[in-house]
Amino acid sequence: MSLMIVGSMAFDALETPFGKVDRIIGGSATYAAWAASNFTKPIKQVSIIGGDFPEDEIKKLEARGVQFEGVEVVKDGKSFFWSGRYHMDMNTRDTLATELNVLEQFNPQIPDSYQDTEFLFLGNLTPDVQMQVINQMKNRPKLIVLDTMNFWMEIALDGLKAVLKKIDVLMVNDSEARELSGEYSLVKAALKIQEMGPKYVIIKKGEHGALLFHGTHVFFAPALPLEEVFDPTGAGDTFAGGFMGHIARTKDISFQNMKTAIIIGSAMASFCVEKFGPNRLQEIERKDIEARIDEFIELVNFDIDIV
Ligand code: AMP
Repeated sequence: MSLMIVGSMAFDALETPFGKVDRIIGGSATYAAWAASNFTKPIKQVSIIGGDFPEDEIKKLEARGVQFEGVEVVKDGKSFFWSGRYHMDMNTRDTLATELNVLEQFNPQIPDSYQDTEFLFLGNLTPDVQMQVINQMKNRPKLIVLDTMNFWMEIALDGLKAVLKKIDVLMVNDSEARELSGEYSLVKAALKIQEMGPKYVIIKKGEHGALLFHGTHVFFAPALPLEEVFDPTGAGDTFAGGFMGHIARTKDISFQNMKTAIIIGSAMASFCVEKFGPNRLQEIERKDIEARIDEFIELVNFDIDIV
């Protein structure tokens, strides 16, 4: 009974208006695991890394209950490397380099000890790899959540459409939802995406929060207005980790509970952006998370009397 996270574990080089780092730990599965580990244990990690991935980063994740049996280590290989530069608004970025390295040969093998997975998060990877993971699950997890990006819509649309038929929740940002559906209205986009397979669609709008759609039901979670956004890298994966962590802890996949899960995802993402890479996620404690969730409640809490 547990949560499984599939995605990249990487080195990133990042440039924001606030500074620059040449080599910091990153990757979708890294961020998601750090966020989820606040809520649930064990986390069954599936990824591929090179011999260059720091041992102490693995140890830190293991101490948080993250299992590495499903992480392939290519001793003489190099870990995935991604580099990006953010514009002044911090909502847009340019990818400066994508060096797949060991990720090019990623052929995930799901260990037997992972077969009791109840909740599966498929981070942004080629749709074929995401499908390969689903096909290896002997028992279908209770909830399969998938993240993807424009890139796969442009070069692997058929593969993406095939995997969408197998999942329950799609997490995308607003431009990706529009591209996938061909609809400008996010309400229409979410309905069209639901016809493609996933019965729940989460559309992230960066600093403008996130929407959860299910049939004609809609829920909106704001993003916390922060004085400073230092580095948005990994915010989407951190959001996913918080969402999945809460779902795995409560084992409740109702729309009602997903509302709470996206508030928790938003709270975790608000920490992620406060420092470079996963640094802030590595230092926060339970009391920080509780205080942040209280801030969210306060943000949207009001009395109304119209008579
Ligand atoms: P996000 O800011 O949520 O889009 O996630 C950024 C993280 O995703 C970085 O840490 C990167 O290492 C990782 N990443 C970027 N591009 C890819 C890709 N094509 N495949 C897998 N992971 C990626």
